[in-house]
Amino acid sequence: MHELLQEAKKGGYGIPAPNVYNRFTIEAALQAADELNAPVILGCPGVFGIEEVGELARYYERKYPRVPFAVNLDHGGPFDHLIRAIRAGFSSVMVDRSTLPYEQNVAESKEIVKIAHAVGVSVEAELGHVGQGVEYEQTRDAGLTHPEEAVSFVEETGVDCLAVAVGTSHGAYKGTPHLEFELLETIAKSVDVPLVLHGGSGTGDDLIAKAIKCGIQKVNLWTDLSQASNMAVKEAIEADYAPDVDPDKKKISSWQYDMIGADGYKAALEHYMHVFGCVGKA
Ligand SMILES: [Zn+2]
Repeated sequence: MHELLQEAKKGGYGIPAPNVYNRFTIEAALQAADELNAPVILGCPGVFGIEEVGELARYYERKYPRVPFAVNLDHGGPFDHLIRAIRAGFSSVMVDRSTLPYEQNVAESKEIVKIAHAVGVSVEAELGHVGQGVEYEQTRDAGLTHPEEAVSFVEETGVDCLAVAVGTSHGAYKGTPHLEFELLETIAKSVDVPLVLHGGSGTGDDLIAKAIKCGIQKVNLWTDLSQASNMAVKEAIEADYAPDVDPDKKKISSWQYDMIGADGYKAALEHYMHVFGCVGKA
């Protein structure tokens, strides 16, 4: 992940980091990257089976040899998740200690950097806190990243990239997203490492494109891809079970719904690859 993000920083584009959790989402993400000649970072949430994703990634690496991709543990929480991800062959882990006091965040992130770097695995950490969209208005301001802290945090921990809080949030926004571009530019000028934007979904293409111009290299995506997948399945089910459809006609089976959902996910991801400027950057 370190290498992909360094390239993105030089090239001035962003790399999508879609959440993946099974073979359909992993293949959809790699197909999108393959078709658009783009890099991609697969973000595995620890709760969905770290070892499975590690194995699947090795399989699909052989199936899509042209795609430059990394496998990242997203929001690494428990210590055992982080170590299991490293052992499962992930190319990077995020150690998320963003709700802890600064000193504790530094100490715990630094510990993971020491372990991960010993075996060539990159580390992302978060400073400031990107909250949840349902409480956006209440939590946004308190979580913003302080530039001076970002400088000392990167120095003290040795992380490869830093997730910053500049006004985005996870999940659907309750309220209108507004981003702190000046703050982002200040942070980008102050630290050498690539910067990560969590909560890309629902933020809007224009705001994300501007954030990338201001110094973001990795954008995490989940909710929008999940919604696109759900909508594709919903449409297919509605068409298949419409009252005028002959009941004797064979219904679409569940594995086909998985693929229909994956196609919706892939289309939404491809849209973002265009927005992020990473098409043709593989
Ligand atoms: Zn996140």
